[in-house]
Amino acid sequence: MDNKKGIVYLVGSGPGGISLMTHRAREVIDNAQVILYDQLPGEEILASLPDHAEKIDVGKYGDHHVREQDEIEQLMVRYAEQGLRVVRLKGGDPFLFGRGGEELEICRAHNVQVEVVPGITSAIAVPASVGIPVTHRKHASQVTIITGNEDPAKKESAIDWEWLAKTTGTIVILMGVKNLGKIADVLVQNGMNPETPVAIIERGLRPDQRETIGTLRTIHTLSLEREVRPPAVIVIGGVVSLYTGEHIISR
Ligand code: SAH
Repeated sequence: MDNKKGIVYLVGSGPGGISLMTHRAREVIDNAQVILYDQLPGEEILASLPDHAEKIDVGKYGDHHVREQDEIEQLMVRYAEQGLRVVRLKGGDPFLFGRGGEELEICRAHNVQVEVVPGITSAIAVPASVGIPVTHRKHASQVTIITGNEDPAKKESAIDWEWLAKTTGTIVILMGVKNLGKIADVLVQNGMNPETPVAIIERGLRPDQRETIGTLRTIHTLSLEREVRPPAVIVIGGVVSLYTGEHIISR
């Protein structure tokens, strides 16, 4: 591949602040000429982006997209084709629900060099921060990570809810706050015990982290009462019984 063409780094910033970012992420960010970012990496990391880089907010905030995905991809490729070092910065890991896979494909299609910098995913670290391991020999030997973005009432759902409701493992839901009520209902309708414990962890590993603990039966009402907002990780399963409220990951 032609190095003069520049390079795109698909970078995961981890779930929280600077201390949970990899050394490689710091290195490529500090050497970047262009940084395409959204708000998920959080204030501490965004405030640490180098002054010399051109920084472009490409965030998608709820239904209001600052920039559409194809526009982000075009920008990324265009800058790299100008010979620049481009960082596409994402929260957590770039290949878990971050559209990093699509961005990789686009770079390949344009023959643009790519490096992926993995990050610690919120799906595992955010539950861990309050003592919830996603697997545990006594509670769960498998874990399923799903997006809660989809309306589970939708017939053509890409998620097999019937199968999921019968799983004995842990279910971790990202982007699930909006549809939490429907998700809890569909799991119970398909046979999951309504007393299954559920944890919602908002703004995990950030200074204002907050947890809401309930069951499939109670969690939706609780989330409304407490005005739960994204970003939040939702954990369903026996492992939630290990929650103590103590924060055990250093920020
Ligand atoms: N690639 C990311 C996930 C992107 S999808 C990762 O690996 O973590 C965005 C969703 O991730 C959010 O809606 C939320 O469900 C979750 N998320 C990411 N960071 C989070 C954090 N610090 N606290 C709680 N949830 C977080």
